Parts: sequence; C-alpha cells; structure tokens
Amino acid sequence: MEENQLMESGVSQLNSNAFFIDPVRILNRSYTRFRVSPSTYYSRFFDSLNSAQSPKASEDFRKGKRKRKKKIQSLNEREQIADRRHQEVKPFLLKAHEALLEATDLLKVLRNLRNDGCAVGECKELSKETSELSFMELGGVWQAPLYEIVLNYQQDDKTLQNGGSPLAQSIEQRETPVFNNLVANEGSYDIEAELFNHKYIIPKRSCFYMSDMQQIDSLIPAGSDCGFNLIVIDPPWENGSARQKVRYPTLPSRYFLSLPVKQLCHTAGALVALWVTNREKLRDFVENDLFPKWGVTYAASFYWLKVKANGMLTGELDLFHHRPYECLLLGYCDGKDTHSGNLTRSNPIPDNRVFISVPGDYSRKPPIGELLLDYVPGSMPARCIELFAREMIAGWTSWGNEPLHFQDSRYFVSK
Ligand code: SAM
Repeated sequence: MEENQLMESGVSQLNSNAFFIDPVRILNRSYTRFRVSPSTYYSRFFDSLNSAQSPKASEDFRKGKRKRKKKIQSLNEREQIADRRHQEVKPFLLKAHEALLEATDLLKVLRNLRNDGCAVGECKELSKETSELSFMELGGVWQAPLYEIVLNYQQDDKTLQNGGSPLAQSIEQRETPVFNNLVANEGSYDIEAELFNHKYIIPKRSCFYMSDMQQIDSLIPAGSDCGFNLIVIDPPWENGSARQKVRYPTLPSRYFLSLPVKQLCHTAGALVALWVTNREKLRDFVENDLFPKWGVTYAASFYWLKVKANGMLTGELDLFHHRPYECLLLGYCDGKDTHSGNLTRSNPIPDNRVFISVPGDYSRKPPIGELLLDYVPGSMPARCIELFAREMIAGWTSWGNEPLHFQDSRYFVSK
C-alpha cells in the first residue's frame, strides 16, 4: 500500500501526521526528457544496507548516550530551552519513525532507492574528473554581466505530433545573460542549457535569477498581483561548529533582516516556510526579530527526519548538537488585500508534521514545497519562489547565488 503510493507520487503517508518521501521521484515530475539520477542524488547514507543497525551505529548510539549524559548536567539556560523543545517534538518523531519501521514493504523499496530504475551500468557515480563551475567566482568578476547562458529549445513537439521522426528535431538556441537576469523556460518540456562547456538541465515552466543578496530587490514584483503565494527560504546560516566543512559562504543572521519578504508576497498573502537549524539562539532570533521584521506570523512547525537506507536514523535522536532532524518554520504574511488573520485559504495548517527521507548531498533539503500547497493563500496555481535555492522545480522561481548547482547534467540521466 505505502510502497505503491511512493512509487506513484514519491510520497507515502505513514500515519495521520507522518510521510515518507523520495525526493528523486518528486523532482522527476519537473522533467520530461531527463530524470534525476538516483545514484548521484543519494550520494550518502547507502553504506549500511544489510544490517538493521550496524555495529558502527550501535557504537555511535552508546557514545551518544554518554555524550548526552555528560551534556545534560552542564546545559546552560539556552540549551535547557532547546532540550525542552526537543522533548516536546520527540514523541512525534518517534511515532513517525516507528510507523516507517513497521512498513516492511516500504523499507524494501527504501533499500533500493539508490539503484531505482537504473539499467545495469547506468547508475552513475558523481564524476570527480569533471569539475563544477563556481557560480560565486564567475558572478564576482567584472565580466559577469557579459556571461551568457545558451538555452537549447528542441522543436520536436510539432514534429512528433505530426508523426515525424525525432531525428528531424531542430534546435532553436537562445542566449541570455546568466547573472542578474530572470532566465525562464516557459515551455512544457525540460531543456538543456550550456554555460562555459558545462551542461545544465532546466525544468519545464521554471525560471531562475542568479545573483548576490544585494540584487534581490530586482525580484520584487512591479504588478499588483505578481507576488508570490509560497516563499521557501533556506538561508546560509552561520554554523557554530568550526569542524563542519563549509560548502558555501554563510552570513550572520542579522543580514537576513533585510530580505524583502513582505514585498515579495502576493497581494492575497503568502505562506512563508523557513528552514532553521536546531540552535536555540537562532530560533529565538527568528521568533522575536526576523519573523516580525518580515511581517510573518508564526503558524506551525514541520520536521524533516533523516534516515539511512536501512531505515535507521542518521544519528541518535538525543545527541545534543547533531540531531537527525531539521525544522521548517511556517508562517503567514499578509498581502496588500488581506488584513491580519483574514487570508483566503481552505485548510488549517497542521502542527508537528513529520517528513522522513534519506538525505541527498550536504545541506540539500527535500523538495517538500508542493506538500505545502494545501495551506497556501490565494487562488491556484500558486506562485512559488525558493530563496537561496540550489536547484530548480517546475512552476517555481529559484533565486540564489547558485540556483543551477544541482541542475548540472552530471546529476541527470536521459530518459
Ligand atoms: N536549499 C538549498 C538546497 O536544498 O540545496 C541549500 C541552500 S544553502 C543552505 C544556502 C545557499 O545560499 C547556498 O547556495 C549559498 O551559496 C547561498 N548564498 C550564500 N551567500 C549568499 C548571498 N550573499 N547571496 C545569495 N546567495 C547566497
């Protein structure tokens, strides 16, 4: 039952409040000619397949217990608040995880997600030889305004409909500045794009704006009803831990106060979804400074619980600084046509909803945007934007200094 749901939609309901999701299947809805390569998406957490709990995991668990015991005695005031918050959400997380462990057929599918749909030899590993473009370096030089991306539109729609051969496809090329410019694929097919000999796959009906935060005001809509009804934000929060590898530049929290969230909202209002870390100082800042400055009223919290391919959590639930879950804070922003609490939306948003998935690359969040659509104010289809995006999704605008990162063709296979 659950595995059928997962196969069809990439989402499987485990109980009234918990879902297992396969990001690869969800992302694949954005593509017609290509599909996301599961082996490159799931580059981690597929190493302990055959054990219910590997010896290493048990050892980590014991260590974790020791660490927690030691810590609990020496928690400062802020850490005690964080611990209370954790204890409140823990029953929801445990219940969701238990439901996953009881879904034995789903667990079988889970173990195989990395090789899903790949013919023998097709499941590629991420090539270490081909380097990735550094968009931040490229965007920082004086020549940046001159750099153009080439969009290759295939003209096969008509050819195929008329019974013509796909070999007769013609390609129409369009060149457009890649930085500080809204680049759109308005067609109903995904397309290939080229930039400095690298290929990128652009989903159908999607667009990106690649710039530094200083230029984000260019996205503020000029028209009265051109704003966004759903705004997902995953800021480059500074990480307290010096040990953690930095894969992108981070910014002090106060910088995000200047994000023009209110101005990006649709006149009918917006649901704002903000990824936060488990640091209490940050939660405090979001609740007391950031949301009020953005004009966002807190509504609910969702949780992303991370599991390995064998269904076990990626770390011990009680381990203080390395929780195997992340939090998505949800709130509403009034638009010009709405007054506080007067938003037009059909469903009340649930609290403490849990999404379980196997994580992809470092800091890559699962694409749960469409699971929020039921709670978005205004008329459908909703206008959606992701801020600090590293990938693109059909129907969405992606903004950040590297929204093409996971669009590199090395993360895809042809259909
Ligand atoms: N949500 C993304 C995902 O799932 O892959 C991860 C986003 S990551 C937490 C934050 C992103 O913000 C990184 O891509 C980083 O390069 C970008 N970033 C950092 N500083 C920025 C700036 N000044 N302007 C725009 N983007 C910035």
